[in-house]
This record gives sequence, C-alpha cells and structure tokens, in this order.
Amino acid sequence: MASVLVVEDDQFVRSALIRHLTEASHTVRSVGTALEALREVAHVGFDVVILDLGLPDLDGAEALKMLRGITDVPVIIATARDDEAEIVRLLNDGADDYLTKPFSVEHLSARMAAVLRRSRGAAAGGEPPSRVLQVGGLSIDPLRRQAELDGTALDLTRREFDLLAFLAGRPGVVVPRKELLAEVWQQSYGDDQTIDVHLSWLRRKLGETAARPRYLHTLRGVGVKLEPPL
Ligand code: CA
Repeated sequence: MASVLVVEDDQFVRSALIRHLTEASHTVRSVGTALEALREVAHVGFDVVILDLGLPDLDGAEALKMLRGITDVPVIIATARDDEAEIVRLLNDGADDYLTKPFSVEHLSARMAAVLRRSRGAAAGGEPPSRVLQVGGLSIDPLRRQAELDGTALDLTRREFDLLAFLAGRPGVVVPRKELLAEVWQQSYGDDQTIDVHLSWLRRKLGETAARPRYLHTLRGVGVKLEPPL
C-alpha cells in the first residue's frame, strides 16, 4: 500500500487511475495541473507520483525539473508520446520510470511495485539493490540505467544501453549475434545490420571505431565481445 499522487488533466484517465489504485488499496490524491502537483508535494509526503506529460500549464519536462527541485519522491512518467529521445532525457532528468499510454493496470502496478521497492530499499538504509558492472573504465548501472566511461556519463538510447549492459555482464565472452538478437532485441531472427548499426552508434559514443576498437570487438561471422582495453 502506498500513498500516490496522480497528476493528470484528462478526467477520464484520472478517474480510471484513481479507481484502480484505490482498488489496489493505495491512498490516492489527484490534481490536474503541474502547479497543483508542486503545491501538493510540498505539503504532503507521497510514496510515488504518477506524472502525465501533457499538462495544460507546464511542459512535463519542466514540471519534472521543478518537482525534483523540491522532492526526491519517485516519479513515474505517463506519456502518450512514444518518443525514445524524450523518454531518455526524462529518465536522465530524474524520472524513475515511464509508461506509454495506453497502459494496463497490471503494467502500472508492476512499475509502481518496482519503484517502491527501490525507494523503500534505499530508505531502509544503504543503497538500493544495484549491481554496478565495471569493465575497465566503463561502469554500468543496470537498475538506474546509467553508464559512465572514465567518470563521464554516456548519453545512450534504450537499445544502446541494453546492448552495452548485456555485453558488460559477460566481459571477454564472445556473444553470438543470434543471442544478442534474442536477448537485446527479443527477436528470434533478424538481419545482422540491426546489430551493426547499433554497434556503430555505441562505438561512436565510446569514442572508438570498428577499425580501432577499444572495448567493443566484432568477430566476423561469430559475434561481439566487450572487454577492457589492454
Ligand atoms: Ca494530459
């Protein structure tokens, strides 16, 4: 059970959320604008905020920044925009998770449970249960979805991050392309180009090239491996 603030201007979506959350025995308050939300969080301690991005008064990204200015409460973004770049930016700006509308109650419940587990774990003392992967100067935090190279944050897309995190979990191991497709793309088939394109973007961000690899090594016809530079 959690105390939830729903920030949503669409009356229909709002009532549905309130109904579902109340049925799941959460306590719910709701507001329809970003400014009301800021006022609420300043006065009431919530366990989680569900923030609609399309609000009438403030842009969702602005609202998130202002929220972050006054509270560390976990924020789940609810967005109709399926814009990867925007979502990545929001996650970097302090959102804890996001849901793309329309989403199911089960989906929302699962995301909420995960976010609450993390924040309660953190509040209970100590760090949230995160295992940071370290490969040379690369450090990858799968839980926070953050990656750094030599202490500098990498701005990765969701897929680039997934690819890097998957490889970093098996440093020095050649992962067959088939396995990458299955694990990172959840596809049982596909062309090699999909992987190559993402690898080349990822390489650029790591400051290396296929001809002069440092971390990412492609073995033609076999697979890909990640290992620390010599
Ligand atoms: Ca809206």
